[in-house]
Amino acid sequence: MAECATYGTVAVLQINNPPLNVLGHDVRSQLMSGLQQALQDKAVCSIVIMGKGQTFTAGADVKEFGTEKVFWEPTLHSLVEAVSASTKPVVTAIHGTTLGGGVALALASHYRLADSSAKMGLPEVQLGILPTCGVTQRLPRLVGLQTAVRMVTSGQTQSAQQALTAGLLDKVVTDDLLKKAVGFARSVDVRGLEARRVSSWTVPGADRAEDVLDAARKTLVRRSRGAIAPLTALQAIQASLLPFETGMKREAELGRYLWTSWQAAALRYAFFAERTVKRWHIPRNKNVNYRTAEPMDIKSVGVLGAGTMGVGITISLLQAGLKVVLTEVNKAQLDKAVSLIQRSLEGKSGGKPQPMQLRATTDYSQLREVDLVIEAVFEDLALKKKVFQQLDAVTNPRTILATNTSGLDIDQIAAATQRPDKVIGTHFFSPAHVMRLLENIYGRHTSVETIATAMQLGATIGKVGVLVGNCPGFVGNRMKGLNFTEAMFLLEEGAEPQDVDKALEEFGFAMGPFRVSDLAGGDVHWRRRIQAGLTTEHGPPPYTPVLYRQGNRYSPLADMLCMQGRFGQKTGAGWYRYKSGSRTALPDAEVHRLIHKHRQDHGFQRRNISSQEIVERCLFPLINEGFRILEEGLATGPQDIDVIFLLGFGWPRHTGGPMYYADKVVGLGNLLQSLEKYRAYHPRSAHWVPSSLLRKMAAQGTSLSIWAAGSRL
Ligand code: NAD
Repeated sequence: MAECATYGTVAVLQINNPPLNVLGHDVRSQLMSGLQQALQDKAVCSIVIMGKGQTFTAGADVKEFGTEKVFWEPTLHSLVEAVSASTKPVVTAIHGTTLGGGVALALASHYRLADSSAKMGLPEVQLGILPTCGVTQRLPRLVGLQTAVRMVTSGQTQSAQQALTAGLLDKVVTDDLLKKAVGFARSVDVRGLEARRVSSWTVPGADRAEDVLDAARKTLVRRSRGAIAPLTALQAIQASLLPFETGMKREAELGRYLWTSWQAAALRYAFFAERTVKRWHIPRNKNVNYRTAEPMDIKSVGVLGAGTMGVGITISLLQAGLKVVLTEVNKAQLDKAVSLIQRSLEGKSGGKPQPMQLRATTDYSQLREVDLVIEAVFEDLALKKKVFQQLDAVTNPRTILATNTSGLDIDQIAAATQRPDKVIGTHFFSPAHVMRLLENIYGRHTSVETIATAMQLGATIGKVGVLVGNCPGFVGNRMKGLNFTEAMFLLEEGAEPQDVDKALEEFGFAMGPFRVSDLAGGDVHWRRRIQAGLTTEHGPPPYTPVLYRQGNRYSPLADMLCMQGRFGQKTGAGWYRYKSGSRTALPDAEVHRLIHKHRQDHGFQRRNISSQEIVERCLFPLINEGFRILEEGLATGPQDIDVIFLLGFGWPRHTGGPMYYADKVVGLGNLLQSLEKYRAYHPRSAHWVPSSLLRKMAAQGTSLSIWAAGSRL
């Protein structure tokens, strides 16, 4: 766990807790006793702390979070203070990616040395907690307020060179860190020790502190969108201007506040949920699962359709070192796609795709030898069926055929082939080379091997794969669609687009639904509604009431905008107006007039609508649908739904995801009550009918987490 050795007058304490050398209780105990031995050993003049294996230490052991073990002595705090108080100079020698507690140890040491490839970072705020153990007090004293605020609140890692420039490191070395650290430790002198304790320093540039902190506060209020950890961390850093002991007390106080906050619990949940979804099984047959399945080895992938998604998917595959055959019917589009792909990969570590790795063609027969094809042609079932028939004819019979459809029936697409067991949905999110989510959808005949291969492919290209069952829109789009429906009803009843957007942005979304619609282009969904027979290019279908379609309440407002050519940013006008070349959404009197007239025409009484109602009306139907999805066995557990929303739809991470939020923040009883309340006002909206799973759980007073604990292998 931690090994001690002496090299002449230097004692070396090496953490050895693979793979990441996390500072669990055993490691802390052994480091502490190694330190004490070294202090007692008269032959030892200085001490080096370092790590074996791939990193110095990735910090605290997250598995201890939420347990008593984290408080067992020696705590990380006691260890760090013992290092700082050491009567012999301590040199920390850093390599690999050193996080959190590792940085705390380094800051408390008297000298800091690093390998040139080392990185240092403080990810605590991303888990809703504060970097404690003196980090918020020592770091500003060492690197100044501005850098400290950036490191603590962003969680971004610093390279060794950046850390050296910032003053966080004393020296960067190449090769043989142990030898260099021992040599360095021999050269340091106990007489200068007192001045090397960062706790005795004052924060540089303290006279400009107010301006720096004010500017940081403004930025954080805007960026953190309801997350409390970044602003709390700023308060702790501000306390570094006080005497060290006072600042430490403040840090401990704020640390406890965040540690016990509901947001820290939610962020911890989100962290583990991303790991839990890898343990997939098919709910109706638990024997089909991640343990029993063997994936196929995938070395080459065909991508069919070189549009927005085809380009992003190709970039992801090439970045992971896979060979890609990009196939497209339109030669001009293909050339454009190749140049986009090359530009995107230029300057990245992989450099330009080698001719061997990317082959671009208009000839389907080039797909003959690939291991897997991802189809990304237009969202049209007839076209997809035709394309799958062609793929079935041209590819090797062992090739897996995947579709990137946003919600079409996987079984119908599979039925167009002679190999339905090898057909699966691999739903990427846009931009596909950036978004980390891969929603994999199995059909009725999809084989275990095909499922395992799609899940494995996700991991290979750095995505988080979530396995779900087949239904219109799958999990993500099926739930998300409901949020926009209610957003429009809110406009009819009195809200303006900017009121709805503001309420959801305050809840934590980067953009409200109307700004998102303007960004994505309102015409995309308009075409889908036309295809679904809900509307026509000229208004409601004949003999159809304006406010009701297919048995449900319907708002035609989005259709009315599209009929005026207001598709959003691309046409300079949508729910908002946009100045030429600008993406800033400006409220538009035209839209307000259109909504106002619609209210008058249909007898809506305008009323004031609170932010709380807006949030509940937009989010609760979506959550209710999540319960239905669980009930129908289309997702293995609530974590799968939460990960889809956190990684695919920008759901605010500090709330844990829609299902966690319902379970732990709103409460299932309260959720049920709210659904019933809104249902009484909106009896013709099916999405307000509470799911029977929710009813059952609320009646039993149980929680989703208890229910889920039994459902996952
Ligand atoms: P797109 O219109 O940008 O690109 C589709 C491409 O397919 C075009 O270049 C077209 O020329 C090509 N194509 C059409 N027929 C073809 C054929 N028979 N053979 C080869 N190429 C053909 O569309 P997109 O936005 O990339 O969407 C593609 C698929 O991904 C759709 O099913 C869509 O629903 C899905 N999807 C899109 C998004 C998104 O945000 N754009 C997100 C997730 C999933």
